[in-house]
Amino acid sequence: MPQVRRTKIVATLGPATDEPAVLRAILEAGVDVVRLNMSHGSQEDHARRYRLVRELEAEIGRPVGILVDLQGPKIRIGRFAAGPIRLDPGQPFRLDLDPAPGDTSRVQLPHPEVFAAAVPGSELLLDDGRIRLRIERVQEGVLETVVEVGGALADHKGVNVPGVVLPIPALSEKDMRDLAFALDLGVDWIALSFVQRPDDVAQLRKLVMGRAGVLAKIEKPAAVEHLGEIVDLADAVMIARGDLGVELPPEKVPGLQKRIIRCARDAGKPVVVATQMLESMRDAPIPTRAEASDVANAVYDGADAVMLSAETASGHYPLEAVRMMRRIIYEVERDELYRAYLDAYRARAEPQPADAITMAAREVARVMKAACIVCYTTSGATALRAARERPEHPVLGLVTRLPTARRLTLVWGVHSVVTEDARDVDDMVEKARYWARTTGVAEPGSAIVVTAGVPFGTPGATNLLRLAWVT
Ligand code: PGA
Ligand code: MN
Repeated sequence: MPQVRRTKIVATLGPATDEPAVLRAILEAGVDVVRLNMSHGSQEDHARRYRLVRELEAEIGRPVGILVDLQGPKIRIGRFAAGPIRLDPGQPFRLDLDPAPGDTSRVQLPHPEVFAAAVPGSELLLDDGRIRLRIERVQEGVLETVVEVGGALADHKGVNVPGVVLPIPALSEKDMRDLAFALDLGVDWIALSFVQRPDDVAQLRKLVMGRAGVLAKIEKPAAVEHLGEIVDLADAVMIARGDLGVELPPEKVPGLQKRIIRCARDAGKPVVVATQMLESMRDAPIPTRAEASDVANAVYDGADAVMLSAETASGHYPLEAVRMMRRIIYEVERDELYRAYLDAYRARAEPQPADAITMAAREVARVMKAACIVCYTTSGATALRAARERPEHPVLGLVTRLPTARRLTLVWGVHSVVTEDARDVDDMVEKARYWARTTGVAEPGSAIVVTAGVPFGTPGATNLLRLAWVT
């Protein structure tokens, strides 16, 4: 049986992948989903990348997911009069609303909400946590702080206010513009950064209106506190370890990663492990052993996808990074311990037809040593429930709509093709055989297990299981 990869690869696009030959190469090397990060680049840049991916998708002949990542309510300082400043431990430093360029004594923080929520004694983290300020006094529009950890500070660096739920809208004006742009393009997933409250996800959902999947990035302690509700409201989640490890001490991140993966697997929602996975490959053709181990551990934990950020967007070795990630995934998935780890934690089937049928399909496939489970799925919901089982066999999704196939690219173990709905049971088996053979997941002579819902042609609950052989 050909080896089918279960864990998916998300790659962020950027200047390093703008050469069409490079983009084609990373897709051919196994990228399942591309990420367009609205925190960098213009809408024109992203529109160009979007079109190129769609062209290459048609040439490669398999669906590619496109995820737009909204910047979210990211807080930034203003600018300085004469380039970056230096802050020394112990010195006072003021943040205020004055748009005048800053110096070593003060800088603008153009977010009144932060002043309203700040409390003396708490900390502000600047530039990905490199600089740490302790708040001494809070006055109307002024924060007097003392530098705890100093360093160089440049214009427009980010500010994290750990542990505080800021009374700011889930989507900024820029996010609203980027969202409209992304939906117009026809992207498959919309990710929202700095989700603080379950309601932030509900708001995005209302705006998206089913035109794309909604992914909540978990990077705030407040989101971790409401993890269950956020997972329920979202279609997928990302463990955004970069900002999560600024807002919380880095040593908290590994345990949280495991908890978030488990929570998402329980709900049958795809979960992406992101940031710094192969970070050193920005400048080197091979990763550190610790990075290889990090990717492998996310796979052992049963994550749906692992993500590359700067490695592919702006690094020197985008193709090597994708190939390395793929090799690590293959190696883990071949390891017999992988199955043991997946089975050690299995989401319990719930009393619904899709769970009952896919659970049975898994057993039948195992007993018959089948090549795959072929799953007719209109909305993608049945494929998601099948993936939740983390079956031994690859799941081949037969879908009638290309957007569904594209959205499923993020999901563990599911590979899909677009085909017409079956006319009757004979046709159902025929199409399943054809696609299992054509996609290479099954060889002639091997058994396949087919699940579907009758009557055909009407989206409804899966209620049928059929065993067949590829001819
Ligand atoms: P970002 O999100 O790359 O948009 O910051 C990921 C993270 O914070 O880890
Ligand atoms: Mn982030």
